[in-house]
Amino acid sequence: MTHKDGIAYAQKLDREDALAHLRCEFHFPEQSNGKKDLYLLGNSLGLQPVKTESCIQEELKKWQEGAIRGYFEGSHPWLAFQERLAQPMADLVGALSKEVVVMNTLTANLHFMMASFYKPTTSRFKILIEEHAFPSDHFAVESQIKQHGLCVENSLIKVSPRSGEDLLRMEDIEASIAEHGNEIALILLPGVQYYTGQVLDMRAITQLGHQHGCTVGFDLAHAVGNIELELHQWGVDFACWCTYKYLNAGPGSIGACFVHETHTSNPSIHRLAGWWGHNKDTRFEMGSQFDPMLTAQGWQVSCPPILAMAPIVASLELFERAGGMSVLRQKSRELSSYMMYLIKERLLGKVEVITPENPEERGCQLSLKMLTTDGKQLFDELQRNGVICDWRYPGVIRVAAVPLYNSFEDVYLFIDTLERLLRKNDQ
Ligand SMILES: *Cc1c(COP(=O)(O)O)cnc(C)c1O
Repeated sequence: MTHKDGIAYAQKLDREDALAHLRCEFHFPEQSNGKKDLYLLGNSLGLQPVKTESCIQEELKKWQEGAIRGYFEGSHPWLAFQERLAQPMADLVGALSKEVVVMNTLTANLHFMMASFYKPTTSRFKILIEEHAFPSDHFAVESQIKQHGLCVENSLIKVSPRSGEDLLRMEDIEASIAEHGNEIALILLPGVQYYTGQVLDMRAITQLGHQHGCTVGFDLAHAVGNIELELHQWGVDFACWCTYKYLNAGPGSIGACFVHETHTSNPSIHRLAGWWGHNKDTRFEMGSQFDPMLTAQGWQVSCPPILAMAPIVASLELFERAGGMSVLRQKSRELSSYMMYLIKERLLGKVEVITPENPEERGCQLSLKMLTTDGKQLFDELQRNGVICDWRYPGVIRVAAVPLYNSFEDVYLFIDTLERLLRKNDQ
């Protein structure tokens, strides 16, 4: 698609956008002067859906008026709340509903999953991660290695971009798995890399890992609600994600896990157990013999926090109303391609996009390096001008145009502001 410059063209794209009406389903934050922010940070904290408040109110009301009855009565009893979320959540990640459970938070879930799926033996004990993994993932993995009494230095394999490059090359991941495959117990990689926005080929990595006898898990923090996923079909062993980024469920909102059917159906997998993972039919008989549910819910330990789960109802409903991930992904490709176009048109030589050029290898996020000025300073100026994006050390500004609530005009206004600030800095 060939684009044109100018705000009138951006507004034309918005008029033709079949998803444009969803923008008014969200609250947009304001600056102190009352002007709406230009919000391009759905990759970090998604905006609040208008309906979130009433979803929480509804559960508060059930608690006020019925207390314990809330578990059993009404249209959505709390005992079945997990089931209410499982199918729409599974749709987002390409899973069977029994393969998905909403619980805990992302890093906690990484630990829970590694308790089951990192089982080092004397010959196969290594974990393959990326050198620039999100710190929390890195810490979690190192602490799991230590938990087994192993030495981190001997047990961690890190893939990294080649020197002078920003992106991971699939051939380097392949080479590392080929070289160390028979020692690798677990491959744990992101679906979308948080710093560069690069999408990894999860299907190929899973296949390759399995060929070498490795377990393969993914951190989908930046992938869920952003790109299309087929976790079941790809044969991924497990995955974890949070719901406060592209899923718009609020700060620190509850996370979720995928466990492949081949594992959920195996009652003998070791897990950190609790009463809410126990067979529902006999849970309240209070026996002391653990009988896990043969679904991903078998990994739940506690009774679910209903008030924390209520925002996810509002969130998932919007993904359904949009028509699902393939529809959203189409608009997302158009938004990011349009931003790429404007950067080339207006900011050539001043801004480098380190995110892959190929639309299939990137999601909503573009990571921008400033070539002619201090990036952090420019980021601060963007903030002062009402543009909400973020700065990540060592040197990128991350922006995401999110198909649920961002417009083509948002993209235009962002580039226009960036160009104006850069021109001012050059003088
Ligand atoms: C956002 C993010 C986290 C955050 O973890 P929490 O446990 O939710 O605080 C972890 N890993 C990655 C890759 C992330 O993008």
